[in-house]
Amino acid sequence: MFDYQRSRLFQDLTNTLKQMMSFHQDFEKWMENAGITITDSQFDKLSKYLNLLKEKNEELNLTKILEPREMWIKHILDSLIAVPFFDIKPGYKVLDIGTGGGLPGIPLAIMFPSVQFTLIDSTQKKIEAVREFAHDLNLRNVTCIAVRAETLAHDVNYRDQFDLVITRAVAPLRILIELTVPFIHLYGNVICYKGPEYISEITFSKNAIEKLKSEPPRILQYSLPEDMGHRTIIQITKKNVTPDIYPRREGIPAKRPL
Ligand code: SAM
Repeated sequence: MFDYQRSRLFQDLTNTLKQMMSFHQDFEKWMENAGITITDSQFDKLSKYLNLLKEKNEELNLTKILEPREMWIKHILDSLIAVPFFDIKPGYKVLDIGTGGGLPGIPLAIMFPSVQFTLIDSTQKKIEAVREFAHDLNLRNVTCIAVRAETLAHDVNYRDQFDLVITRAVAPLRILIELTVPFIHLYGNVICYKGPEYISEITFSKNAIEKLKSEPPRILQYSLPEDMGHRTIIQITKKNVTPDIYPRREGIPAKRPL
């Protein structure tokens, strides 16, 4: 009986290891198809991040997606797969607005150690959790701040300072334009991670684009593997100086969208 149990345990362990190895290969292949090379150490850090996120989720509401393969595809791959489209260069300063549990900022910081990431969220507890994740993952290129975008955008140390602002699942596009564009320098870019229903968001954003002096959006559509959904990246470039009045005070961009 004892031997039987031992051999079952061994079999289960072997199967789990096989699944992990085959998943590692699948993930590497998806990244390669997207034009991104990943090292074993980066894969291990991404895996550790998902464990930390899952653990912390028992205390804070950070994600509804908890099945491991789904977490890899819908959180990690989704954060990284479109990077060749918007381009991140060494030395860039990137701001992630409404990072929540660290998405897409933490996976990007793992993959691009020579880029400086600032992750902000209006919820103090979420930012404390993400700061802990960055510490446990030894990410020296990450700074976390609990603050609303409307307030930080009027701080001279942050306004017009970023090469790239990224944001995922935070607000409709016309609100995001007001919250994000003030942070980028002239000809810097905003990247909004969106679902498949983007056309009406763009239609409603014409006024915000004009007021925030940006170029018309560029669009990239892609699908996640294993039928896990369609996604859209909306890129906005700043073509002129942002008027001082934007963003309006806390809560107004959402209450009275441009
Ligand atoms: N980006 C993460 C992701 O993709 O999983 C989290 C998305 S969560 C649905 C939206 C987050 O945006 C919340 O954590 C919320 O606190 C934050 N948020 C909303 N409005 C904000 C604002 N004006 N400034 C800073 N953070 C904001």
